[in-house]
Amino acid sequence: MIMQFCLRCGGRLEVQWVEAEERERPVCPACGFILYMNPKVVAGAIPFQDGRVLLLRRRIEPARGRWTFPAGYVELGESLEEAAIRETQEEVALEIGELSLLNVYSYPESPVVTVVYLSPIFGGEPRTGTEAEEVAFFSPEALPWEELAFRSTREALEDWVRRLGRA
Ligand SMILES: [Zn+2]
Repeated sequence: MIMQFCLRCGGRLEVQWVEAEERERPVCPACGFILYMNPKVVAGAIPFQDGRVLLLRRRIEPARGRWTFPAGYVELGESLEEAAIRETQEEVALEIGELSLLNVYSYPESPVVTVVYLSPIFGGEPRTGTEAEEVAFFSPEALPWEELAFRSTREALEDWVRRLGRA
């Protein structure tokens, strides 16, 4: 949903052609403010141990009831790695570290860019919580391909399986 009012003066925004940028943007006719809308960054981690990865079944929308790995929006003031570590602690109570970048996922129809790390598990017992209604380890052969939450979930796990094949 697009913001309707100007962040600077409170005037009503209108979609206008911005000549200098050769595209339409929400503009405030009263003060000239231009609203730039850009993707937000999500950091995720795929925790692994003994050749299996830890996934969680989402308790909340979107994609409630479907499987993915811990991930969430990066806050101002933290790095991507810090965000991935924090989300993993918050969502499934696992301590991870020594992150290695798996890949970055973005799609024209999606408002987020998702950066996914692979990480060994250093501690903690995986548990459910406000965001996870179930947690489980999956081997590459047993991944729940038909029940994954997002396109980025599927592509990240495909990248993980491919990486295993090369190892
Ligand atoms: Zn304005």
